[in-house]
Amino acid sequence: MNTKYLIIGNSAAAIGAVEGIRKTDKEGLITVCTKENVPSYARPFIVYYAGGHTPKEKIYFNNVKYLENLGAQILYGTEIVKLEARKNKAITKNSEAVSLGFLVHIIGMP
Ligand SMILES: Cc1cc2nc3c(=O)[nH]c(=O)nc-3n(C[C@H](O)[C@H](O)[C@H](O)COP(=O)(O)OP(=O)(O)OC[C@H]3O[C@@H](n4cnc5c(N)ncnc54)[C@H](O)[C@@H]3O)c2cc1C
Repeated sequence: MNTKYLIIGNSAAAIGAVEGIRKTDKEGLITVCTKENVPSYARPFIVYYAGGHTPKEKIYFNNVKYLENLGAQILYGTEIVKLEARKNKAITKNSEAVSLGFLVHIIGMP
């Protein structure tokens, strides 16, 4: 597949990245890859969810379709395992190649 922007990660930093890109580029295809299979959620609330104090839907960021509404496509369950910078490619765990224009590499800090 081809994309103009590839964002690795679908969490707080990814939201900021998509918002930032959309300020200057309203149309370019943005692809967000996450190795997880769930919408982006606020890590600090994990403990409240795990402790049974907060329902699951409350730990997701405001609107689970927020990034789609900004025109980004989200690839869930898609782990990037290799970057081929000279070829402008990222390789997924399933050996699929993603051709990209710009890479935003967001692996969060715990
Ligand atoms: C229990 C807990 C409590 C916290 N409490 C606070 C707090 O009170 N205050 C505070 O400021 N911060 C807190 N933090 C830290 C805060 O949650 C993080 O700083 C923040 O989530 C970082 O956001 P991020 O978008 O950079 O990355 P993350 O939220 O870590 O997300 C990383 C994203 O990258 C994806 N990813 C990673 N590797 C790959 C790969 N190879 N291919 C594809 N996708 C990949 C993941 O699936 C995920 O979507 C807490 C964290 C935890 C775990």
